Amino acid sequence: MHVPPSHPRYHSLITREKLADAFRKGLVVPEGLIAHGRGECFDYILGEKSRDFALEAERVAVAMMILADHPVISVNGNAAGLVAEEICMLSKSLSIPLEVNIFHRSEERIRRIAEELAKYGVTVYSRGDAVIEGLESARRIVDSRGIFKADVVLVPLEDGDRCEILKKSGKKVIAIDLNPLSRTSQMADVTIVDNIVRAIPNMVDFAGEMKGMDRGELERIVGDYDNREILKRAVKSIIEYLEWRSGDM
Ligand code: ATP
Ligand code: MG
Repeated sequence: MHVPPSHPRYHSLITREKLADAFRKGLVVPEGLIAHGRGECFDYILGEKSRDFALEAERVAVAMMILADHPVISVNGNAAGLVAEEICMLSKSLSIPLEVNIFHRSEERIRRIAEELAKYGVTVYSRGDAVIEGLESARRIVDSRGIFKADVVLVPLEDGDRCEILKKSGKKVIAIDLNPLSRTSQMADVTIVDNIVRAIPNMVDFAGEMKGMDRGELERIVGDYDNREILKRAVKSIIEYLEWRSGDM
């Protein structure tokens, strides 16, 4: 389908097209399309831009990843379908490996996602040779070189159960989730309430600016951060946006 750039919902429609293509290529499952719809709804009532609380969390997330001993970026079908190239740019800029980790597991889909990422010349783990205890879903199966031993995990579009278990196993979790009320958002150490299609490119920019900073400065940025405050600001901004819109009616 051709979407004219003048269409008022151009960006949203292009993103849907990308996801639908990824579905046809076998990267994304139908459940992923529905999950995206929930995200879109929150994006709509957040004004469809990266707000100050999102930019702040993105900056802290990059600082945490630079400071980590074993950071890893977990990639699922939707993330690969929407921002494969940008995630690979982030991975290369900060020398952080990627790991394919999906909820609806199939060897075929893992292989396809890994191949999509490998096109950009990055390190992709997908061995599935270790297990995170306490979890029933397929997301418990991880790579011993990646999530299993990681101290900081960036999980765009995570499920609440796994976020909880990752935290229980002592890892710091950075989530990208447009719903500030989800269990994932509530549980993560850093919650980026932003659309993944804006969050990852923002983080690529921050990575370029911050990788030369000294550790003390980065530690200060992380130390000053308060995720509760960020979540409150996200919810308040939804309330304010809706109030503002109701004024037009
Ligand atoms: P939780 O399991 O954390 O309680 P959930 O069960 O409501 O959340 P899931 O289906 O597990 O939701 O995860 C999908 C999450 O990803 C949703 O919260 C949705 O808002 C978010 N999401 C979907 N698409 C995007 C996107 N493009 N950018 C950011 N977040 C998104
Ligand atoms: Mg869930």
